[in-house]
Amino acid sequence: MKVTKAEIVISAVAPKQYPSEGLPEFALAGRSNVGKSSFINKMINRKALARTSSKPGKTQTLNFYLINDFFHFVDVPGYGYAKVSKTERAAWGKMLETYFSERENLKAALLIVDIRHQPTADDQTMYDFFKHYQIPVIVVATKLDKIKKGQVAKQIKQVRETLDLDSSDQIIPFSSETAQGKEEAWKAILAFL
Ligand code: GDP
Repeated sequence: MKVTKAEIVISAVAPKQYPSEGLPEFALAGRSNVGKSSFINKMINRKALARTSSKPGKTQTLNFYLINDFFHFVDVPGYGYAKVSKTERAAWGKMLETYFSERENLKAALLIVDIRHQPTADDQTMYDFFKHYQIPVIVVATKLDKIKKGQVAKQIKQVRETLDLDSSDQIIPFSSETAQGKEEAWKAILAFL
């Protein structure tokens, strides 16, 4: 897909701040530092529109990006940051529960994982959380450029098995360095529109 326009429209905490046009939405989640911002920026051809906002102490918001005036990417704050306080973690959980339990225009969630490693307990919890709300998931296994070609199938199998992916949920090897997987990721996203 050719992205000709991408802009941040709002950093929201409460539902009343969510965009109200009813455009389709795709949420992006992943543990801190996994490569989520790099994924978003690569997908929309920007150097740094999406930024890591998951440092402890920073306000945790859902960042809505309007793409081609047609749909939203919703950047979910990263998880698994050890230094985050209990209070911050609780606020994060509440915000996600509110958004994912009631957002009707949400089409699918993209769960970003690191292709080099077995998904963490936090990744599994996140996947199970999406399934609980019956949200389709596209798993993006990023940092593909960091492993050898011969390892890809084995790593993908490990991710699929560890998360216990539904057969209907896709997994896409991706690299923000080389843009491998970019067309496949767009195809998987656009299939929901
Ligand atoms: P976020 O916290 O999930 O938003 O992670 P970032 O997008 O900020 O990425 C964390 C680090 O991983 C940065 O140093 C990125 O340059 C690096 N990174 C992200 N994606 C890739 C990738 O596909 N390949 C490689 N080699 N590095 C990546």
